Amino acid sequence: MVQGVGFRPFVYRIAVEEGLVGFIGNNTGGVTIEVEGPVERLAAFRRRLREETPPLARIDSVTTREMQTSGEAEFRILASDAAGTVSTGIPADAATCADCLRELFDPGNRRYRYPFLNCTNCGPRFTITRRIPYDRPQTSMARFKMCAACQAEYDDPTNRRFHAQPNACPTCGPRIWLVAPDGAEIQVADPVEEAIDRLVAGEIVAIKGIGGFHLAVDATNEAAVARLRARKHRHGKPLAVMVRDLEAARAICELVDEEESLLEAVSRPIVLARRRADCGIADCVAPGIPWLGVYLPYAPLQHLLFADARVKALVMTSANLSEEPIAIDNNEALARLGKIADAFLMHDREILQRCDDSVEALVDGAPQLIRRARGFVPLSVPLPMDAPPLLAVGGHLKSVFTLARGRFAYQSQHLGDLEDIRGLDFFREALAHMMHTFDIKPEAVVHDLHPGYLSTLWAKEWAAERGLPLIAAQHHHAHIAGCMTEHALDEAIGLALDGTGYGTDGSIWGGEVLIARLGGFKRFAHLEPIPLPGGDAAVKEPWRVAYSALRAAGMEPEQAARLAGAEPEQTRIVERMIDRRLNAPMSTSLGRLFDAVAAVVLGRRVVDYEAQAAMELEGCAVDEKDKAGSEEYALELFEGGEPGSSNVLRTDRLWKALLRDLRCGESPRRIAARFHAGVATGLIHAAASARIETGINRVVLSGGCMHNRRLARLLRAGLEEKDFQVFQHRRVIPGDGGLSYGQAAIAATILNRR
Ligand SMILES: [Zn+2]
Ligand SMILES: [Zn+2]
Repeated sequence: MVQGVGFRPFVYRIAVEEGLVGFIGNNTGGVTIEVEGPVERLAAFRRRLREETPPLARIDSVTTREMQTSGEAEFRILASDAAGTVSTGIPADAATCADCLRELFDPGNRRYRYPFLNCTNCGPRFTITRRIPYDRPQTSMARFKMCAACQAEYDDPTNRRFHAQPNACPTCGPRIWLVAPDGAEIQVADPVEEAIDRLVAGEIVAIKGIGGFHLAVDATNEAAVARLRARKHRHGKPLAVMVRDLEAARAICELVDEEESLLEAVSRPIVLARRRADCGIADCVAPGIPWLGVYLPYAPLQHLLFADARVKALVMTSANLSEEPIAIDNNEALARLGKIADAFLMHDREILQRCDDSVEALVDGAPQLIRRARGFVPLSVPLPMDAPPLLAVGGHLKSVFTLARGRFAYQSQHLGDLEDIRGLDFFREALAHMMHTFDIKPEAVVHDLHPGYLSTLWAKEWAAERGLPLIAAQHHHAHIAGCMTEHALDEAIGLALDGTGYGTDGSIWGGEVLIARLGGFKRFAHLEPIPLPGGDAAVKEPWRVAYSALRAAGMEPEQAARLAGAEPEQTRIVERMIDRRLNAPMSTSLGRLFDAVAAVVLGRRVVDYEAQAAMELEGCAVDEKDKAGSEEYALELFEGGEPGSSNVLRTDRLWKALLRDLRCGESPRRIAARFHAGVATGLIHAAASARIETGINRVVLSGGCMHNRRLARLLRAGLEEKDFQVFQHRRVIPGDGGLSYGQAAIAATILNRR
């Protein structure tokens, strides 16, 4: 990553400091440097190239070659040619750097309190770029002509703002203003001060940021947050909280070192961390779970808000209704958020790419991405094989597509749920931009096996229009293939654990033990299938799943209904669905088993958002020890009935032990802990059986359930105890946000074989 990150000026500077002559230029492979001088100075140059790399630059490899000296007079930066910039792309957006921050609060600086200051080491990139090459005329800064002072910085190779494309100052750059919901400008001397006053008074302010608008409200004000929830139609789903700095984050969350590093990374993700009991954050910010999504300011405007001592913690949530794409345009924001926000803090630096905040958490001691967006896009993830140019469209929920070429996979930003035309429009717009940015023309398209997904239908149409070959990848195979590819494995035992995925038999899978290669897989074992009465309705109403699971475990209708918390009228309908197999697809999903247990143990009858029940169940056990009498709850592995059929992980013993504990008055937290341990134990037994059959000793863990930290920890510890090598996702999301990466790996493998 050498484009737009101050790499060439950096090389210029160290070459000049070492007294070397020559030049630096971009080419299709990256960067070429020719240097001439005394041997020991050349060695120093080479060392400093690695040791002093600018913060946003990334060197993957350096190749050196000796040449004849040519007697250059000085060291020069060659102009970049358009062809050369393609492979080096656009950098990701980066948080305000320490130097800029000092200037922001220095009354003597000409950019004092200027909300758009940035430099080569920080600022927006991806979100303001229309097309490559990454140069000012191709960004939304094109309309701002630099003043003489800014231009001088821009042209000076020794300046921190040399070729900083978004360079600006109060004289020549974007400006900020405040708008009422009716669109009229609110005339005030200082719009930021006015916005702060309103936030402190409990108002909801829509704030235009880097990748879109945020809705901001005082996170310590229970009534204000409740009002935001009501207006946004978002009831239970946790809201992210921004605080001034690390110290403020420590005051509301218990943080370990790795979490603190994540908070301060230039990508500035939202970090899911354990909240403190006395954190002072309104309860309704993250109801029912012991974690808080916390993050630090990453744009100058956000730093200005927090410079006021009255602003302690702000809910900063994507400005949209439920799962719609985030609003980016001033008029769009007014139209869509006019009934939500009390005021709008707007600016005239256009956002060209929608990009939510990224989310990360520390899982089993290492960072794991939960949502991939600002700060990560459009950075590539390596591929261990050579991929022909191809497009992997991903799944249905939390959509992310992947464009692959050669040894690189470029994943899109989080696109939300592909449920309607608005989601699809965002998908199309992001795809067009990324195809253009990296000049990738797909020669094949890979989609999920599910025939009804919007992404599948779209992929079929798009490929047909272009006469491209299509590949369908099974959902859980793609999850496992993604994790295998991250670790360059060619075969593995895969535990694919998630909510929903279309199986090769047309039923819903999600608790799968696969023997996987990249080109194919065998279903070694799966969770016992149960009917999901009502299909999608069962996902939103865990009591239905609980009822079905208890009936399958041999319980009478009345007893099952009582334990599931079902009304008598509802029970009759659901019983009929199960009995006649009407709108009751069979499912082996582990996510649904979590839902069922949450319904019975926590009384979580309906959910407001995906994975709520599972998160509450994990959260409930957060202070319990990992080992909690798991053997009695363990899923039991039974051989499949017919020859060649998969083994089944049965749940009857688990339910029996769980219900007995419940009857004996055992605490929900203890039961939740035992449930996690029992699930892990059963899956580890299954992996051990798979090893006996195949001799494979590597286990990869994938699927949305791997966001569950307790389960991830238990599986790794238990598998390593049995001398397995265990692999988890690191740079790719375990849930559906990472699906397209695995799809791309499967397609590349199949296409390379052809
Ligand atoms: Zn900076
Ligand atoms: Zn200026």
